[in-house]
Amino acid sequence: MTETPEEALEQAALAGIHCLPIPTPFAVGAVNCYLIEDEPLTLVDTGPNSGRSLDVLSESLAAHGHAIEDIDLVLLTHNHHDHTGLTQIVVEHSGAEVAALGAAARRLADFEAEAERDDQFAVDLMLRSGIPEQTAMALQSVSSTFREWGGPVTVTRPLGDGDAVELGGRRLEALHRPGHTPMDTVFWDAERELGFVGDHLLPRISSNPIISRPLDGSPGRTHSLAAYLDSLAKTRGLPEGAVLLPGHGEPIDDHRALVDARIASTERRKEKLLRLLGDGPRSGYELAQSMWGNIAVTQAFLTLSEVIGHMDLLEAEGRVREVDDGGVIRFEAVA
Ligand SMILES: [Zn+2]
Repeated sequence: MTETPEEALEQAALAGIHCLPIPTPFAVGAVNCYLIEDEPLTLVDTGPNSGRSLDVLSESLAAHGHAIEDIDLVLLTHNHHDHTGLTQIVVEHSGAEVAALGAAARRLADFEAEAERDDQFAVDLMLRSGIPEQTAMALQSVSSTFREWGGPVTVTRPLGDGDAVELGGRRLEALHRPGHTPMDTVFWDAERELGFVGDHLLPRISSNPIISRPLDGSPGRTHSLAAYLDSLAKTRGLPEGAVLLPGHGEPIDDHRALVDARIASTERRKEKLLRLLGDGPRSGYELAQSMWGNIAVTQAFLTLSEVIGHMDLLEAEGRVREVDDGGVIRFEAVA
């Protein structure tokens, strides 16, 4: 069974699910929040923290006969500003419960301090990857400006992988799918073969496997792309014909083809990056420059995450090793 995105949205609407696109100031464009007309009245993700987003959310809810005050439950897919920023305001207006991955609860609650740690982590990683200090600092200041669009969130219903969220007319299983962020969670309705996937799988753009601090607070960094590929394999195993509702863009009606395309492009990029090591060891920054040229400063950490993610895969295959060159990490092809 294959349906068009329009048919998928109609199918979702029959299940009481409405896509509410909320504007964001980010390059990705609008974020999709989803209203689930059930008991309790549920909102999946909330949009960025801005007056305009709040207005659009109110208007979108009103178009379906609801108000922000009516929301009983908020489900969060991951801790990015465009998905979680309005949560606390929604909670203040409605008293809604917030269900999200329990392992991420502290990171969500301690927003300012955690964002500070994230920025420091990113600067350290950029400097160790050979990114010029000026660029790293510029990116840090962009990041602290973006912070206004986020905000602290108190999780009242912490979820573990596989836990169910019971609504009157459906059961949503929380499936932990780390990679894009360490907390990505898919909310899966097995009966309807329908899932809310956040940014875990997007129809038009690949999900950046952003390098992060581990969720459990342990030192080091995530192996985001490797984790993402594991998560994608699990998602591929969802039934054929499932409808996946993403955080950006139209519904995904053929997730297996999309997952296969994402895996294939990862493979191609991995081999291309390996070839770039043919002339000797190179830093993450040099590799990113060879792949993407001089990109906007806001993209610097994303492209670096891509490079490091692919180097992780090559290292696991024994084809690349890291060498510390006076504080800068370089990657070297194993002969
Ligand atoms: Zn995201």
